[in-house]
Amino acid sequence: MSVYRKWYCSCSGRPEELVYNDQIEDEAGEPECSRCGASPSSDPKHTISFRDQEEWDD
Ligand SMILES: [Zn+2]
Repeated sequence: MSVYRKWYCSCSGRPEELVYNDQIEDEAGEPECSRCGASPSSDPKHTISFRDQEEWDD
């Protein structure tokens, strides 16, 4: 079993999952909102939230 964290941004009024942007090498490893650009470490409007998901290996 492993746990991974899903990040969401609610800038559009409902939580939307953040996406990892592979094109920005400096920000590798951190997801960001495709709408407002907020990320877990840069959250000026406090719209970022997360949920831990458990995933079970078969
Ligand atoms: Zn956003």
